[in-house]
Amino acid sequence: MRNLVRETNLTAHDFVLPLFVSEKIEKRRSIASMPGVFQFSLGEVVAEAQRAQDLGLQAVLVFGIPEKKDEKASGAYAKDGVVQKALRAIKEKSPELVAITDVCLCEYMSHGHCGVTRMDGDHFHILNDETVQLLVETAVSHAAAGADMVAPSDMMDGRIGAIRQALDASGFHETGIMSYAAKFASVFYGPFREAAESPPQFGDRRSYQMDCANAEEALREVALDIDEGADIVMVKPALPYLDILWRVRERFGKPTAVYYVSGEYAMIKAGVEKGLLEERAAVLEIMTSLKRAGADIIITYWARELAEWLRA
Ligand SMILES: [Zn+2]
Repeated sequence: MRNLVRETNLTAHDFVLPLFVSEKIEKRRSIASMPGVFQFSLGEVVAEAQRAQDLGLQAVLVFGIPEKKDEKASGAYAKDGVVQKALRAIKEKSPELVAITDVCLCEYMSHGHCGVTRMDGDHFHILNDETVQLLVETAVSHAAAGADMVAPSDMMDGRIGAIRQALDASGFHETGIMSYAAKFASVFYGPFREAAESPPQFGDRRSYQMDCANAEEALREVALDIDEGADIVMVKPALPYLDILWRVRERFGKPTAVYYVSGEYAMIKAGVEKGLLEERAAVLEIMTSLKRAGADIIITYWARELAEWLRA
C-alpha cells in the first residue's frame, strides 16, 4: 500500500556520475577525503564511463586535471586538453552515454581561481569579461570533442549568453547548457578541491560565488541564466539549499539539477565509518528528499551504487 501511494520514486535515470580524469596518472588514484571516489587515467576513464552506462546510468559529468597549469588556463581550451581527449575516447566507446563537461578555469589556472585575475597590491580582482572569453573557447572546444552538454561552473556574469552564441555560431546548436546558476560559496566544497586539484592559492571564491544567506539573489541569478539560454539550471550544494531548489523548480519550471557536493558526501561517509549511519538507507533518504524538493537531475558520487541499489 505504501508503494501505491508513494509520491517520489527514484530511478537510475535521475543521477549523473562525476568523473575525474587526470593526465598526470597511469593508474586510478583514490581521493583520501572522498572514500570510493577516484581520479582515473585517460585510459581508464573510458571503461569507467562504459561501466556507468552498463549499470543503467545515462550521463556522466567530466572534470579534467591537466598535466600543467598556467596563468591563462590554456589546458582548458586546448584541442588536445585532458577533457577533450577523454571525451573523444568516451564518445567513441559509449556514443549513447550523455557526456556533460565541467567548464571552468580553476583546474587549469596556476593560481586555482575560476577566472583571470589581476593583482592590486595584496588584493586580487577576477576579470569577468576576460574570463568569459576563455570559458567560451573552452565550451566550444568541448562541443567539438563530442560533449552533449557543457556545464559552466564559474559563476561569471554573462557567460551563458556568450557560450550559447558561440556554440550556435560554431554549428553546435544541439549542444546543451547546464548552468551552475545558483552556486553558493560553501564550506562543503573542501574535499572536491583535493579531487580536482584546484584549491585557490590565495584569497577565496566569495567574490564570485553567492552568500548562503541570499535566496532572492539566487532566483535572480537563475532568471538571468535562463534568459541567456540555459537549458538546465543547477543549485549547489544540495541539502543546505533545499528551499532554493524548491523555489527554483516552482518559479521557473525548468529542468533543475542539484549537485550533492563532496563535503556532503564525505560527511555521510564519515558517519558510516563510525557506525552511526547505515549508508544505503541514508543515501536513499537524502536522494529522495532532493527529488521531492524538485530536482530532475541529481549529480552525486553515489550514482553507481544508487543504480545498483535501485535495480535490486
Ligand atoms: Zn572553478
